[in-house]
Amino acid sequence: MKKVICLSIFVLVHHLIKKRDLMNRMMKMAKRNRGKTISYLPSRGRGTCPLCGRTRIKLLYPHKTVENVTIKVCKMCRHK
Ligand SMILES: [Zn+2]
Repeated sequence: MKKVICLSIFVLVHHLIKKRDLMNRMMKMAKRNRGKTISYLPSRGRGTCPLCGRTRIKLLYPHKTVENVTIKVCKMCRHK
């Protein structure tokens, strides 16, 4: 019986550690516009901004045009 309790505590602690790991990972996800995390995007999230015409800039921010089309723009144009 004692063994079972021991084991369940071990499992609980293991779960808690796993949860903390997940939290840490989620905290890192908050910086999703930086570094490695955008490397999954085509050309690493870079391209020519349709608003200001800068080339090879990170296009990470959604922007609604007058025609109500959502496009990705650079950080300079995100509040336009
Ligand atoms: Zn721009």
